[in-house]
Amino acid sequence: MGITVGKCGSGAAEKHNYEYDLFVLGGGSGGISVAREASKFGAKVGLCDYVIPSGTGTVWGLGGTCVNVGCIPKKIMHHAALVGETLTEANFYGWDVNSNLPENKWADLVAGSQGHIKSLNWGYKLVLHEAAVKYFNEFASFVDSHTIKTTNSKGVSTNRTANRIVIAVGGRPRYLDIPGGMKDEFTVTSDDIFSLSYNPGDVLCVGGSYVALECASFLAGLGYTVTVMARSILLRGMDRQMAGYIQSNMEAKGIKFKLNCAPTSITKLSDGTPPTLQVTAKSADGVFNGEYNTVLVAIGRDAATKDLTLENAGVIVNPENGRIPTNSRDQTNVKNIYAIGDVADNRPELTPVAIKAGLLLARRLFDGRRVLMDYTRIPTTVYTQLEYSCVGLSEDEALEKYGKSSIEIYHTTFTPLEFQLPMKTEYVCYIKILTLKSDKERIVGFHYLGPNAGEVCQGFAVAIRLGARKSDLDATCGIHPTNAETATTLTITKSSGQQAVHTAC
Ligand code: FAD
Repeated sequence: MGITVGKCGSGAAEKHNYEYDLFVLGGGSGGISVAREASKFGAKVGLCDYVIPSGTGTVWGLGGTCVNVGCIPKKIMHHAALVGETLTEANFYGWDVNSNLPENKWADLVAGSQGHIKSLNWGYKLVLHEAAVKYFNEFASFVDSHTIKTTNSKGVSTNRTANRIVIAVGGRPRYLDIPGGMKDEFTVTSDDIFSLSYNPGDVLCVGGSYVALECASFLAGLGYTVTVMARSILLRGMDRQMAGYIQSNMEAKGIKFKLNCAPTSITKLSDGTPPTLQVTAKSADGVFNGEYNTVLVAIGRDAATKDLTLENAGVIVNPENGRIPTNSRDQTNVKNIYAIGDVADNRPELTPVAIKAGLLLARRLFDGRRVLMDYTRIPTTVYTQLEYSCVGLSEDEALEKYGKSSIEIYHTTFTPLEFQLPMKTEYVCYIKILTLKSDKERIVGFHYLGPNAGEVCQGFAVAIRLGARKSDLDATCGIHPTNAETATTLTITKSSGQQAVHTAC
């Protein structure tokens, strides 16, 4: 093994005896980002990525959760559901589709989206190759703080040494700890649903997470009968008022909710594609039995740290959740080992967060830069049929942090122009802005429930990062006729008690 002198920027020209300047565990959003960026500065980089099969045996290619079993297939299926909704409205715009509304063909949708994902997998391999990052389709575990053992699908292991190591192994869905709900039994998770080889039939989505609600929404939008069963509240950690509206909008689309209810056992009544499953559940009202074809469990995700043998390197994990605590430089308790993305403790579990953290980390390590990842004011979207997007604090967080008398809330419901001709009245569209009175009404929370919420919120997220105040929104001309312009015309405060209804033009 030769001596490597970092050919990189001022921050990294260290002499060492290791094979790599940087070795990355995990080829998802965070891992690929840090590996690619580090190699730009001349670092010698290795990366390993390996997918342990899901309970039903689903595996996938390079790119991690987002590309294979997260954001990308989810958004494609969400869009498919929106296309279906648009078809039902087309006749109001003169299209003659009244008579024969087509059914969605699940197999074609899966084939289309999986085809796209394969092209992304291939693209990521190419990206790593072009960046001269050495890629291993192997499972990693620690031998010591500078040595990683990587094991291929045939069980052959190799030790690889590195000066610095980044852990970006993400997480995997949690299964139900009940008879019939274990990993190798009758349920599926978000790891399986997007490539399910048969049409899912009647679906029970277990969990109140955004993943549960998004899957429930697109499945209902594609024409399946869907029930959501959650043990406690929906969208924990998000704005309570908005979560309530999201539930009522989903109910308006025919999705049933069983809240304060948890499954206790699942039995298979018949094989088949799909099979028939009986779910027994318990709630305050007593015992409930229901038959479904697919039980999709989305009750949270566990960090993929269990088999990393982190103890060999002395890396500490949070015993409560298996995630790795890091400091503001994304460094673990071991100086040369870093953790980014979903595996890092107490960080937003979102793709752009993992990507940006990876980029900035590589620049700090190998280009002498000092910019830290800012984990605050991260915008996010829940892709339910009617989307919800937010940035900053929830109402409860703002009231708790600043006190009721310090917060002014501007809000209104609104009816999008595109809802008028089809007389679409089932959805509540709502916008809410939380401002801090003592700081000239600086905006500390932005919440939008309406069409294209992600697209709407992205721009406002920039403004809020720059410290936008309510007066800045008032001074901004809207783009007419859009839904986003509603944010520039807000006058009604919650404290006034006035009815919050926005009238067009
Ligand atoms: P990952 O992308 O999970 O990558 C980790 C990789 O490491 C995986 O390929 C894994 O197989 C591999 N690995 C694990 N252990 C080892 C090991 N020991 N050795 C080698 N390789 C290993 N985020 C958004 O921003 N927008 C969305 O709309 C969105 N939708 C989502 C929908 C769903 C259904 C899910 C589940 C997630 C969604 N997310 C979304 C979250 C987003 O996917 C994650 O935040 C992001 O993928 C995290 O990236 P990461 O690099 O930390 O981990």
